[in-house]
Amino acid sequence: MDKIEVIFCDFDGTITEKDNITALMEQFAPHGWEEIKDQILGEQISIQRGVAKLFSLLPSDRQHEYTQFLLEQTVIRPGFAEFVQFTEEKQMQLYIVSGGIDFFVYPILEPWIRPEKIYCNGSDFTNERVRILWPHACEEPCTNGCGCCKPTILRRFDPRIYHRIVIGDSITDLAVAKLADEVYARDFLIKKCHEHRIPYTPFSSFYDIIRSLNSDNGGEDKNGITQ
Ligand code: MG
Ligand code: ZN
Repeated sequence: MDKIEVIFCDFDGTITEKDNITALMEQFAPHGWEEIKDQILGEQISIQRGVAKLFSLLPSDRQHEYTQFLLEQTVIRPGFAEFVQFTEEKQMQLYIVSGGIDFFVYPILEPWIRPEKIYCNGSDFTNERVRILWPHACEEPCTNGCGCCKPTILRRFDPRIYHRIVIGDSITDLAVAKLADEVYARDFLIKKCHEHRIPYTPFSSFYDIIRSLNSDNGGEDKNGITQ
């Protein structure tokens, strides 16, 4: 029996050209947010703790402005609409797994992706400052403090039944790339795949991924680093 193909696609820096949390902080956060960002990238604090700290800098009463700003400035990577259509035609399951926050992830993806196909963090604007909620926090055995835990989500898909494909760009995709059956990488994730000897296919647009998945279906052997 052929396995069911399931795709876990990152959002920030993968579907969108740039990172939305960074763009939001550059525009709205007071000085000091850069230090928190550096602590996250330097792995001195977990992603979950760092993101909570970043959003606690933002007043809740500007929620509408935050969403509008990101909707206006976000650029979608070429080929994404065609990619979504391709996965539907090929009956592949497509999930978006994102460390982003619901108030911008859902509206940006609204033209293409139904909410039940999206895993991301939540938000609470009822207090003075923005509080982030974690409906998909780490479960055993992950203790990374991922925030939105991609390994936990992927582990729910039995590898005997599913062929699990990961698409991503950065450090937040590394743990899940290690568990995947197939990886598409760009930017920093490429470097990390080399370091950890994870086989991957590089991409710069979603057209590259469509082409590669099409050749997979033709039975091409996909062992080893395909760059
Ligand atoms: Mg990313
Ligand atoms: Zn985790």
